[in-house]
Amino acid sequence: MSLFVGVDVGGTKVLAAAVTPAGRVRRVARRTTPGRLVDARLVEDALTEAVEEVAGGRRVDGVGLAAAGFVDGAGERVMFAPHLPWRGEDVRARLMERWGTTVVLDNDANCAARAEVTHGAARGAGDAVVVTLGTGIGGAVVLDGRVHRGSNGMAGEFGHMQVVPDGLACECGGQGCWEQYSSGNALVRLSRARMGQEPTLLDELCGGDPDALTGPLVTTAAEQGDAVALAAFASVGDWLGVGVANLVAAFDPEVVVVGGGVSAAGELLLAPARAALGRSLVGAGHRVVPPFLRAALGPEAGAIGGADLARAVVKGTDRRRRLRSGGSPARARRRAARGTDRRR
Ligand SMILES: [Zn+2]
Repeated sequence: MSLFVGVDVGGTKVLAAAVTPAGRVRRVARRTTPGRLVDARLVEDALTEAVEEVAGGRRVDGVGLAAAGFVDGAGERVMFAPHLPWRGEDVRARLMERWGTTVVLDNDANCAARAEVTHGAARGAGDAVVVTLGTGIGGAVVLDGRVHRGSNGMAGEFGHMQVVPDGLACECGGQGCWEQYSSGNALVRLSRARMGQEPTLLDELCGGDPDALTGPLVTTAAEQGDAVALAAFASVGDWLGVGVANLVAAFDPEVVVVGGGVSAAGELLLAPARAALGRSLVGAGHRVVPPFLRAALGPEAGAIGGADLARAVVKGTDRRRRLRSGGSPARARRRAARGTDRRR
């Protein structure tokens, strides 16, 4: 049986998983990401250890890397990653040489979207918008069943669409970016601003230290009916719906899938988002408003999508993704032997 491994390379942790053709995770290995100020080799050592642990001595047929960063249009390089040391490096070829197997590379949100469309909440959808609410906003657009990567591989950076002119300053240097209003960070900021002004469970949950407040603590408080936490979710959910209305206006998807840590709050987030979408969407009342669904695959979605991409590339079923170098040595040899290589 073939073995395909997906590796989610995040800013804080690496998660490698052996994934079946049906999208089931069989074995998982975790490592801590060495950080962004270290030699890239250390990150690659961590990836190697995780892949070897998952393989358990078996031959690996392909590895799909889901990297938290910008991956170039050809899927060869990580151009920039805020929390990783890669800067324009030829990560795919380097790891392929080191591991002696096919390696494919894409952005983590693109891989997660691929997984949701292939095996998860958007299964079977032709066109879908996937929004990932974590610290900030990530996402991907799926068109005609495929993740739309854009001409430079940078499509789907929804978090930095400006929704408020002259709005809150963003880490990207812009102002009024969507993720300043709808994200885990926004949830914490809104909640923290009201602590000390009115009674809230959050005081107890964070041990009286507002700096210790996290998104999951706000979720816990909201689930217990805390008014401050609920108000934060109402705002973050409302802004989610407003931003998604713009994406729906642009892409007219069948379904909108919301993943990431903040989506664990379920209806506390999705109900206000649905209301805002219905209110903000152009032509609402005269068109089908796509359903808002919670992502189905959880924190392993990136690894599942990475493995799925690697499998598709190796099996030749990913028609738009052709490996440039050494993708299938056996096939290249067969082509050369037949003299039928018409590629330019
Ligand atoms: Zn921004």
